[in-house]
Amino acid sequence: MDLFEYDQIRVQTALLRDTLNRYAHAYYVLDAPVVPDAEYDRLFRDLQAIESAYPELQTLDSPTQRVGGAILKELAAVRHRVPMLSIETETDTTPDGAVAFDDRIRRKLGLDDTAAPIEYAAELKFDGLAINLRYENGLLVEAATRGDGEMGEDVTHTIRTIGSIPLRLIGDVPAVLEVRGEVFMRRDDFERLNARMRARNEKTFINPRNTAAGAVRQLDPTVTAERSLSFFAYGVGETQAWPDYPSSHSTLIDTLSSYGLPVCEHRAVVAGAEGLAGFHRSIAMLRDSLAFDIDGVVYKVNSLALQTRLGFRSREPHWAVAHKYPAQEALTELLDIEVQVGRTGAITPVARLAPVFVGGVTVTNATLHNEDELRRKGLRIGDTVIVRRAGDVIPEVVGSVLDRRKGAEREFVMPSECPVCGSRIVRGEDEAVARCTGGLFCPAQRKQAILHFAHRRALDIEGLGDKLVDQLVDADLIKTPADLYKLAPEALESLPRMAEKSARNVLNAIERSKQTSLARFVFGLGIRNVGETTAKDLARYFGNLENLLTADEPALLQVPDVGPIVAKSIVQFLAEKHNLDVIAQLQQAGLAWPVQAGEVGSNTTGELSGKTVVLTGTLPTLSRDAATALIEDHGGKVTGSVSKKTDYVIAGEDAGTKLAKAIQLGVKVLDEQGLMALLGKVGG
Ligand code: NAD
Repeated sequence: MDLFEYDQIRVQTALLRDTLNRYAHAYYVLDAPVVPDAEYDRLFRDLQAIESAYPELQTLDSPTQRVGGAILKELAAVRHRVPMLSIETETDTTPDGAVAFDDRIRRKLGLDDTAAPIEYAAELKFDGLAINLRYENGLLVEAATRGDGEMGEDVTHTIRTIGSIPLRLIGDVPAVLEVRGEVFMRRDDFERLNARMRARNEKTFINPRNTAAGAVRQLDPTVTAERSLSFFAYGVGETQAWPDYPSSHSTLIDTLSSYGLPVCEHRAVVAGAEGLAGFHRSIAMLRDSLAFDIDGVVYKVNSLALQTRLGFRSREPHWAVAHKYPAQEALTELLDIEVQVGRTGAITPVARLAPVFVGGVTVTNATLHNEDELRRKGLRIGDTVIVRRAGDVIPEVVGSVLDRRKGAEREFVMPSECPVCGSRIVRGEDEAVARCTGGLFCPAQRKQAILHFAHRRALDIEGLGDKLVDQLVDADLIKTPADLYKLAPEALESLPRMAEKSARNVLNAIERSKQTSLARFVFGLGIRNVGETTAKDLARYFGNLENLLTADEPALLQVPDVGPIVAKSIVQFLAEKHNLDVIAQLQQAGLAWPVQAGEVGSNTTGELSGKTVVLTGTLPTLSRDAATALIEDHGGKVTGSVSKKTDYVIAGEDAGTKLAKAIQLGVKVLDEQGLMALLGKVGG
């Protein structure tokens, strides 16, 4: 190798070391990693490889020679009586990795192929923060983080808030016992914490590991207490006067458990490489269903005497290894952000990614949910991003690696037109989701629009359900609700599993649906924010379709119970020529409804005109729909909740809180008979 090449390697080594030191500082000291663990591990292995080829390039401050990171100066420092080490990582994430470890151990112990298999204690590798708990005469006197392995931080005040860590041990315990274990956060506690943060509109936490670490390394223990941390013991540090010092790791853990310390139930004593590989496989299957995150399993030579014989080197013991699972986070490039149109018109930005193998599959796309989410994560097209895929959960873009930005990355701009149908995209002021306004026309929304149109409470087309709509749209027989009225019997009969008789039934139902009411028609259009009650309000107010179609926002706001959000949705919907075309076609197809006098002109003569009625409980003869229809036929309006403005509550059997509220507010209560009497239907 020439000097030039060697110089390059030297520079590269220094760069690698700097990068790793920077990442380690962010991870260990700030509890805010900038890259996924897999990326850190990859660079770490590169550095290890160079250092073993060129030992003279190794420096004392190399991350390969040290444990953890610096300690926070705000917290008091604690010198560990027995150093807290790291664990070597087995890089082969297949069960074969166990064979490599077993081979190493056998070689070090000078065992040949004929020797009996070695006994190992196999445990989970909890993804949290290592803690040393010092008990003197059974009493917790000090808790410290690992720090750089020699010096840790005194976190006794925060550790004392963790409910599962005993302040006093039980039984006949050693005079001094340092318990080593992991503080971590359960997934459900983490989710609950983030739900609370979202509710308070505060920034959410990225992962349980760093949240747990941040919670422990606090000055104020009330912050720790809020985060619901857990603990598992997995070893010991200094001990004095231990009457029955265990002879194996597994009995040591059992003994700690008998003292009242929490230990994990998923552990096993296994024989040889085969036993280890079996454990690795079985935990792989359990991994997603565990209550907490793990990033692998840990194997330890079970005999403590053999452990002593094997000893340790600078940063890790020889008798243990961490055997990881394929990473659930990886880095890739965000090639582009495109938008998808959902069945309800919701526009979802989707990340197009350079293919990346993560969580056991190759990921090329990930939903970004909505624009706000995308902005919150600060993603730019061209960024190097962290992609996470854990278990069966859909892949997620966690964030960008700011460190890798080069300046050519660009912000995403939400398109103004639907990529599927060209209608305008709008986003309500208080809404997270942008939507396509071509509800009746947009191919992406077709099936949903047709199903809604045919709904029992809309045009009520019996027999036109999910499956049939799927078939009709997929076979390109219909595109909009208007096409239903142009369907030829032969076309319908030609569909698989469609008998002549059922085709006739559907066609009859379509024909029958032509005679409808204006309210049903308006509801059937599927205008966003226009439910059944609003559709009825609109129909009653405008009296005919033309008045509604030509109404502007101020006119719509005159309709009782129509507010700005509803008015805007209607205006947006009707501003789309595509939607108006479909409405015109429906009218041409012969859809008709009895002419209704609108409130704009004269109002009503019904007995309940202008009255608001609430139904509660089961009426003896009238169904809920029938009672509603009857009240509306008489000019009344049915609403869902009782207020001072309610004129009548019609109560049946098992009436609940609405009746109580009516009585409390002094609203007039009638039974079915009373209603009939009011409407002049019966005497009484
Ligand atoms: P480690 O976390 O991989 O392994 C040692 C630790 O494992 C112990 O200190 C202990 O806390 C823990 N552990 C969990 N279960 C255990 C068990 N059953 N028995 C014994 N110990 C158990 O080693 P490390 O040196 O602390 O850190 C390396 C890890 O930190 C790597 O996973 C690395 O990816 C990550 N890291 C990431 C970044 C980053 O930027 N993303 C930076 C630095 C380190």
